[in-house]
Amino acid sequence: MIRFEDLIDKVRTSNPDADTELLRRAYVFSAYEHKGQVRRSGEPYLVHPLEVADLLADQRLDVVAVAAGLLHDIVEDTPNSIEKIRELFGQEVAHVVEGVTKLSGLPFASSEERQAESFRKMLLAMVDDVRVIMVKLADRLHNMRTLHHLPEDRRVRIAQETRDIYAPIANRLGMSKVKNELEELAFRHLEPQAYQKLRTEVESRRKASEVLMEELRVMLAAKLADVQIPVVSIDGRIKRLWSIHQKLKRRNAGLEQVYDFIALRIVTHAVKDCYSILGIIHQTWSPVTGRFKDFIAMPRPNGYQSLHTSVVSAKGTPFEVQIRTEEMHHVAEEGIAAHWKYKEGRVGAERDEQYFTWLRQLLESQQDVRDPAEFLQNLRVELYPDEVYIFTPKGEVKSLPQGATPVDFAYSVHTDVGHQCVGARINGRMVPLRTRLSNGDIVEILTQAGHTPSRDWLTFVQTSRARNKIKHFIQTQEKARSIDLGKRLFDKDVRRFNIDKVLVEPEALVKAGLDFGAQRVDDLYAAIGYGKLTVRAVLTKLVGQDALREHPPDGAIASVVKRVLGTGDAKITVKGIDDLMVFRARCCNPIRGERIVGYVTRGKGVSVHAATCSNVVNLLYDPERRIEVEWDKGGDAAPYVVRLKIHVADRRGILADVSTRIAGINTNIRDVEATSDADGGGSIRMTVEITDVKHLDRVVKALKGIDGVLAVERSSR
Ligand code: MN
Repeated sequence: MIRFEDLIDKVRTSNPDADTELLRRAYVFSAYEHKGQVRRSGEPYLVHPLEVADLLADQRLDVVAVAAGLLHDIVEDTPNSIEKIRELFGQEVAHVVEGVTKLSGLPFASSEERQAESFRKMLLAMVDDVRVIMVKLADRLHNMRTLHHLPEDRRVRIAQETRDIYAPIANRLGMSKVKNELEELAFRHLEPQAYQKLRTEVESRRKASEVLMEELRVMLAAKLADVQIPVVSIDGRIKRLWSIHQKLKRRNAGLEQVYDFIALRIVTHAVKDCYSILGIIHQTWSPVTGRFKDFIAMPRPNGYQSLHTSVVSAKGTPFEVQIRTEEMHHVAEEGIAAHWKYKEGRVGAERDEQYFTWLRQLLESQQDVRDPAEFLQNLRVELYPDEVYIFTPKGEVKSLPQGATPVDFAYSVHTDVGHQCVGARINGRMVPLRTRLSNGDIVEILTQAGHTPSRDWLTFVQTSRARNKIKHFIQTQEKARSIDLGKRLFDKDVRRFNIDKVLVEPEALVKAGLDFGAQRVDDLYAAIGYGKLTVRAVLTKLVGQDALREHPPDGAIASVVKRVLGTGDAKITVKGIDDLMVFRARCCNPIRGERIVGYVTRGKGVSVHAATCSNVVNLLYDPERRIEVEWDKGGDAAPYVVRLKIHVADRRGILADVSTRIAGINTNIRDVEATSDADGGGSIRMTVEITDVKHLDRVVKALKGIDGVLAVERSSR
């Protein structure tokens, strides 16, 4: 256990004028208030706040942050209020503790909606005072280090949350040391078997790798001494298990094929030395093409700078090399925390700006996003910034996420450039708008005045900025059209039923609209235009059923009635509404028991998709049109028809095995078709009758249990 005196020494070393008296009082208070409390590990509770404060001191954060670390669990776990903290330790400390306390209460592992809300709060807390997040990250890091004391379900939940939320945030703030450790620990607890297996494999190569790295290090040191380039340090290391694991998964390869299994890191004094060292390295060992990256000239958005390259040793072992200055090294390890120490004396706030610009822009662009699934999706893109660097024809650099297209680029230049974009040239050649951009591309956007965005763009844009701008445009346009259509349908019926104009004046309409959840008259018209509401329903509310009885429906009303009474899918109902036609979308063909969502389509009723359908996930749909749907209670007369594609090893008799197994669990097969590939594998396409999602699960499980079946997929048609 660390001692408080050591903590004080640490704080004094990085900041001799620190108010250690404040820390002492915070420590005594925390010790007293947590007295008698014990952690799962059996240690006294105080160990936890002390370790958290120590992590913050390691990052050379100021006294306020370290004190908040000592006090961060006081409000949550003792009877003390935040007022008490304010009274004893001042406004600043109380503010940080309060922020941390609020974040602790956030339910992450719950519904999407609450998760989105939690994230939003977290981001707001960061903009408000980034120390809140620093304390929270230190808290999480210590909890992850001691996670093995918890029961499995909590362990998994916390580790998942760490991987999904805390590690990406640490990454975005450039705190790679914290991020790396969080990721390693999450890997260990979430995929214990894969972790242990990889660890054993890596350990078995450690000895040989260390010998090799030492040889390389000595050789390089001698070369650099020869040409008198000063170096601060040369370190060799084996890459982290999590990063090796991801690489193996991405390439579907074995450990022997990962060529940057080991890495050399050279820290020097000046930027010019970095490039000289790179030259020496490329002269000494042959570089692997396509692996050189200059993050000095083009820093990552989180401030990371370094030169990266991969080379092959004389014995044929490839390895990665990173070259950077001392200052770059501190920033690379600690990110925003590295700037903190300058703050109290010299350089200053504008260095932090780069982190906050990102945050502010993110929050601004997400302000109007009400759909939680969409918000989280956008955030995921922003939090895992694997960028490509793109040039404007004038040589200006823009960074965009991996997979970005010319449309993303156009919107990053200006909203109007995006809206009016009709074509693009990459490196002088015309390309389709959905082309993925690569590092170093020079992109020129062709625009045409009056051109407007297409819904189709939503299927390929990557940035949340482009996505939001396109959706906003389309929604505004569609809403205007729906209002207009709704109003025309409404007025037509008012005339036809000879309804007194006074009864349908705006005030009366507003009142009737409120009953349908429409705040303004336009919203009411829009609901009619979208097909969510019938004119008849609104008129009934306004003038009563009787006034509508005389005239038989014709024209417009007939089409509305036909629309809502047509032959839909009787298995699904729309919540709170019973006269809308409902049908299952053909793209995902949802079956009973699956999570579903509905969208009102113009003139065709409600189309119901599986919540996981890519058309829903890709947000092709306007949230205004979203409608809650549920499976009807009670059994089905007719089964669902589901198509399966089964990948098999080409083994004699496998088709017979498949059919027997399916029949064995009381499942009808409508048709089967088997094909074999040139490489000895094959596939079986089969249409089966399914009663619900549990039934489907049973079928898939049975199929997977057959010797020779490699994979089972559900195909759309
Ligand atoms: Mn804590």
